[in-house]
Amino acid sequence: MTAREAAQPAPDMAEAPCRWAVVGGGMLGLTLALRLHQAGQRVTVFEAAPSFGGLASAWRVGDVVWDRYYHVIMQTDARLRSLLTELGLERDIRWEVTRTNFYTGRSMHPLNNVFDYLRLPTLGPLDKARLAATILYASRIEDGRPLEKLSAAAWLTRLSGEATYRNLWQPLLRSKLGSNESKASAAYIWSVIRRFYGARQGGMQKEMFGYVPGGYGRILEALLQRLEAAGVTLQVNAPVTSVGPVPGGLTVKTGEGVQRFDRVVNTCAAPIALQACEGLSADERARHAAIKYQGIVCASLLLTRPLGGAYLTYITDESIPFTTVIEMTSLVDRALTGGKHLVYLPRYLPADDPLLDVADDEIEARFLPALMRMFPDLKRDEITAFKVTRTRHVLALSTLDYSDRLPPMATALPGLFIVNSAQIVNASLSVNETVNLANEAAAMLLSQPAVAGAAAR
Ligand SMILES: Cc1cc2nc3c(=O)[nH]c(=O)nc-3n(C[C@H](O)[C@H](O)[C@H](O)COP(=O)(O)OP(=O)(O)OC[C@H]3O[C@@H](n4cnc5c(N)ncnc54)[C@H](O)[C@@H]3O)c2cc1C
Repeated sequence: MTAREAAQPAPDMAEAPCRWAVVGGGMLGLTLALRLHQAGQRVTVFEAAPSFGGLASAWRVGDVVWDRYYHVIMQTDARLRSLLTELGLERDIRWEVTRTNFYTGRSMHPLNNVFDYLRLPTLGPLDKARLAATILYASRIEDGRPLEKLSAAAWLTRLSGEATYRNLWQPLLRSKLGSNESKASAAYIWSVIRRFYGARQGGMQKEMFGYVPGGYGRILEALLQRLEAAGVTLQVNAPVTSVGPVPGGLTVKTGEGVQRFDRVVNTCAAPIALQACEGLSADERARHAAIKYQGIVCASLLLTRPLGGAYLTYITDESIPFTTVIEMTSLVDRALTGGKHLVYLPRYLPADDPLLDVADDEIEARFLPALMRMFPDLKRDEITAFKVTRTRHVLALSTLDYSDRLPPMATALPGLFIVNSAQIVNASLSVNETVNLANEAAAMLLSQPAVAGAAAR
């Protein structure tokens, strides 16, 4: 079934389009809006920020406009590629072979093929063989849900051995999850391995990533143009402060006033959705509140020279305050960034980590000396821009029995749905999975019976 077919209206809705409010104008809210519109519904999107796109939005660093957070497309991203085909952008994707490094023990190691793995320090020959076998085994598991029964630590130790867990997996998990490391289920690490292994052509051979020239800014522009042309109402600077019941429908309150809708879909992260949504049962509230989120602090840098040429450098050295180095222009053509080298320094952390509240100057003071330790020939005057962004609720962490404890999308308040990226199970967070969730959720939303007393329009 195609996404368009999935979004066809249920028979009882065919003659009476509903008025839908979509709260949140990230890729999820916008794709949902498109699917609801394609099914003949009347849709308004409310976005709190001054522009659409959320985590995928673009911003300006120095004189370069590119994604606020780094994004790549994988060849296996079928749902996203299908949306890009609808938007006329799929054929523009540029695919490039990229390189990966590993920074451990205060030194840099390439990690691109079997021979690089064999040369990795800190692991013995048997450990390396078990590590390779772990990755291969994990990448072949199709359904990761049974792995929600096991902790990541127990699973990885069993497969790779104590030494490899201690020397490689645990530092990697810590760098990604901070104090949430011990709470991650095996399904979390499985989904990450599976996604990144999918970027490798021919097993351990070459890593291949793609991007659309113009980045997600261009993708969003095309999506917004499509929605506007279709008559979808798009409101920015419109944080929704409450959604509540009225006879036969729901009200949505923003700073501009109160509007009435037949149905509302809130696509914001659970803590934000909880604040705004009235009428949820105590059980639903408890389920949303129990979801553990990872946040992120991420610096974008412009350089006058390349760093090391690897798209990804994983870091397990705890003296480095960021998690990874992403050299975007080792993938993206520098003609698109005015000849500048664009680098991201992300730090993932639990949503309650105090670093999320640290001032930008202080982040710069901590990050730059560490970057220069990693790349000793990098000079301060070769860094021409440094800009920090942060988001508290990015990734809902797969913890033990995660999918059993998820709240349902249809809430106790008739006509109100909470559909957010926490509902992505059996996969890791990506725009591809976000589009897939939007497609599937639209089909579910459209099959719901009408709210009693809702007037046909
Ligand atoms: C560092 C990083 C790197 C990534 N890399 C990749 C990658 O390489 N490839 C890939 O496919 N994916 C990647 N992703 C994931 C991708 O960005 C997400 O899957 C996707 O953007 C999530 O979209 P969303 O709409 O679910 O959430 P969001 O983008 O968070 O959208 C939620 C929206 O709701 C709005 N909102 C919040 N409160 C309110 C309110 N009260 N009223 C109205 N609106 C509100 C927010 O402003 C936001 O726009 C990455 C993410 C990050 C953070």
